[in-house]
Amino acid sequence: MKDDKEKQGFSTRAVRAGQVRTAEGEHSEAIFPTSSYVFASAAQAAARFSGEEAGNIYSRFTNPTVRTFEERLAALEGAECCVATASGMSAITATFIGLLKSGDHIVSSRSIFGTTTVLLTNFMAKLDISTTFVDLPDLAAWESAITTETKLLFLETPSNPLTDLVDIAALADIAHKHGCLLVVDNCFCTPALQLPIALGADIVIHSATKYIDGQGRCMGGAVCGTKEVVGEGVFGFLRTAGPTMSTFNAWVFLKGLETLKIRMKAHCEGALELAQWLESQSAVQRVYYPGLQSHPQHELAKRQQSGFGGVVSFELKGGQQEGWKLIDATQMVSITANLGDTKTTITHPATTTHGRLTPEQRQEAGISDGLIRVAVGLEDVEDIKRDLARGM
Ligand SMILES: *Cc1c(COP(=O)(O)O)cnc(C)c1O
Repeated sequence: MKDDKEKQGFSTRAVRAGQVRTAEGEHSEAIFPTSSYVFASAAQAAARFSGEEAGNIYSRFTNPTVRTFEERLAALEGAECCVATASGMSAITATFIGLLKSGDHIVSSRSIFGTTTVLLTNFMAKLDISTTFVDLPDLAAWESAITTETKLLFLETPSNPLTDLVDIAALADIAHKHGCLLVVDNCFCTPALQLPIALGADIVIHSATKYIDGQGRCMGGAVCGTKEVVGEGVFGFLRTAGPTMSTFNAWVFLKGLETLKIRMKAHCEGALELAQWLESQSAVQRVYYPGLQSHPQHELAKRQQSGFGGVVSFELKGGQQEGWKLIDATQMVSITANLGDTKTTITHPATTTHGRLTPEQRQEAGISDGLIRVAVGLEDVEDIKRDLARGM
């Protein structure tokens, strides 16, 4: 039985991994809305609390629906262990605080989610955990930023919103040569398109809020890695500090994982078609999408990912005024900063997701005033094109 499970393909694991049926014989996974669990005796309670006996105590620590989600995502990422969190940001925070101490140093890609930059520069810095930011694709810059205090390298690939990539396997070698952990925020690709652990990364982080939910309903996150690093280090902080995933959200994410691969395939197809169309528009200066021949890292994307993702960014020939005009002329596409939804979303990064960065930080990250990000949903691509053409 166990041998058979190890042979199961991705799609099979996505619908079956982690499920333990109750005595009711339910076919779909059960939701367990309970804060605590009952013990058979005082002695059992004591054994659970001391860790002598495995089992549920309290839902801040473990919950059966959440555990099913964790085991399923671990099975998809090829990780030994996964812990679920209340949001993507709490997954990132728990990783940093659970694994680092005052005086430690992080090397991070400059092109990361805006809030992660704020977490590093405003809050981790307050705990005397410093960060050096480097250009994502530049392997030499990563290596030369590593000091004797560096414990962790952090990145997203492809990056948000410019879809830069880094060679994960090459960076994993650099990280391990210097005794550092390589942490990849795999939100843009999901395990359906990219498996960072198989490429040498130590930890994979998710905002489940995005493609794992896939329909814009619930907030959640996850950290995948080894039992020692994630199951003890990260989980130790989580169960104490409390940003754990709710049982209801875990159930929604479980259902999301079941259709993840086919949804990602559809997002990729729509995004490629839209990116090719945008490249032919006279109002557009440049299109950023790893699936385009014109993307400087197209070959790496083909090697490292099994699809190019659902996010397309483009620069208009004008600045903020033209950008806002295009956004305001849309009638169908949703003006919202979320991504990974069935509904296509459009955003102006410079004044929204990256609005809290200083103008210098934005410039360094390549976020110009004429940049637009579209997260392609599952509508007919012709309808998305027609909607974007209105304001061009
Ligand atoms: C949205 C996002 C996050 C943060 O996740 P939340 O669930 O919003 O807390 C982190 N990383 C990336 C790449 C994201 O897109």
